[in-house]
Amino acid sequence: MIENPFGNNNKAPKVPPATPPEEPNLEENIEISRREFLHKMGAGLAGASVASIESLILPEDAEAKTREPSLKGSRASIRRMVKEAVRNKFDKMRDSYMVSRYVKAGYLVHLSNAESFILDGEVSFPYARPATKLWLQRFSRQFLNACGEKLVVTSLLRTLDKQPKNASPNSVHPTGMALDLKVPESAKSRQYLERNLLLMEKAGFLEATREHHPPHYHVAVFSDKYLKYVKAQKKGKK
Ligand SMILES: [Zn+2]
Repeated sequence: MIENPFGNNNKAPKVPPATPPEEPNLEENIEISRREFLHKMGAGLAGASVASIESLILPEDAEAKTREPSLKGSRASIRRMVKEAVRNKFDKMRDSYMVSRYVKAGYLVHLSNAESFILDGEVSFPYARPATKLWLQRFSRQFLNACGEKLVVTSLLRTLDKQPKNASPNSVHPTGMALDLKVPESAKSRQYLERNLLLMEKAGFLEATREHHPPHYHVAVFSDKYLKYVKAQKKGKK
């Protein structure tokens, strides 16, 4: 089943409906409650204290355990991102209308410049999945504390109708689970960023690659696994 906040109408209607057009069926209701739960959990944890590097050494997920984390792009890395998008039942956003419906339903959340990160001018849609936003909030604070600079986000959600012509059909940007980060100028910050992305990849809740055209880090956050991790970490602190 695919994610669908307002009933079975898979094509966006031309005029935004004043109320959700259809009563979701039972199966959808269960799915929506699960998502709402994850979403609320994400929102509730947004102010959570920042993870220390040590606490990023986590109970590793079984699949992550068997491979070496790497920032090099690969088919396997793309497969993992697509698999996680499907497993989280994330739809790809076709256009801005679809984005607005998913924002209303709480499946996508808005982002704006914060104390620890900035969105650069190239971000066309300042929206992401709640867990992706939570990851950015938490990790950027940790990065700021360690490196004294803000993370710069160069891309977030991209709708299918605005994807560049050479974009991969496997891109997970249209789901809102991925973001791109600018490569920091200082070697120290770069090393810190890469080391931590690898640690988090090893932990199994994200996939990161260093891209070269143009240079940036691509990060896809695996929502359910990340929220589980944050929850476990909070429990451990009590
Ligand atoms: Zn990317």
